[in-house]
Amino acid sequence: MGFLSVLSMAHKLVKERVSQGDTVVDATCGNGVDTLLLAELAGRRGAVYAFDIQAEALERTRDRLAGSSGGGVSAAEKAGAASSGAALHLVHASHADMAAHVAADAHGNVAAVMFNLGYLPGADQTVITTPDGTLAALDAALSLLRPGGIVTVVLYPGHPGGAEEADAVQQWAASLPQAAAQAVLYRMAQKAEAPYLMAIEKR
Ligand code: SAH
Repeated sequence: MGFLSVLSMAHKLVKERVSQGDTVVDATCGNGVDTLLLAELAGRRGAVYAFDIQAEALERTRDRLAGSSGGGVSAAEKAGAASSGAALHLVHASHADMAAHVAADAHGNVAAVMFNLGYLPGADQTVITTPDGTLAALDAALSLLRPGGIVTVVLYPGHPGGAEEADAVQQWAASLPQAAAQAVLYRMAQKAEAPYLMAIEKR
C-alpha cells in the first residue's frame, strides 16, 4: 500500500493534536490546503491565522475556504469549509512576524503551526521562503505553541535555494534542547530531492 505521502503525514500528525476551539496557524498558506484542514479541526469556536507575503495566495486560500474556487476543490472540501466556521484571519505579512498578529491571549496556547516552504505553484517561482525568515518564524512558532503542540515543516530541497533552507531548518531543529522540544524527520531515504517533513512537538 506504500507509505503516507509527506503532506498526508503532516496532516495526520496535526489531526492527532488539534481539537475544536483551538487556535492554529498556517505559516505559508499558499493554495490554502493546510488552512482548510486547520479550519476544520479548530471548528466554530476555533481561530485560524494564515500568513502569506503574496496577495494571490491569500485570495486562493479565501476561495478554498469559501468553497467558491473552481477546479481542484472537491465537494467534501467545500462542505468541510462551509461547516467549519472557524474565525479566519488572513494575514498579508511575513511569518517571521507571526507573534505580532496572533492574539496575545493565545500566546503559549497555540495547538499547531504548519509550514509548507518553497514557492507557490503556478505563481512567480522567484518568490520563495528564505532561511532567515523561516528560522525567525520557527522560533516564533515554538514560543506560541502550548506544551504538546506541534510544528510541521514540509521542506523542498529540489529548487535553487531549497537545499540550503532545508539544511538550515535541520540544524535549527537539531540544536533545540531536548527538554524544550522533540524533533522528527519523515523522509524517503532513496530520493534526496524529494520533499520531506520535519515535525517538532513542544514539551
Ligand atoms: N512548495 C509547495 C507550496 C509552498 S507555497 C508546493 O509545491 O505545494 C509557499 C508559500 O509561502 C508561497 O505562497 C509564498 O508566497 C509563501 N511565502 C514565502 N515567503 C513567506 C514569508 N516570509 N512569510 C509567509 N509566507 C511566505
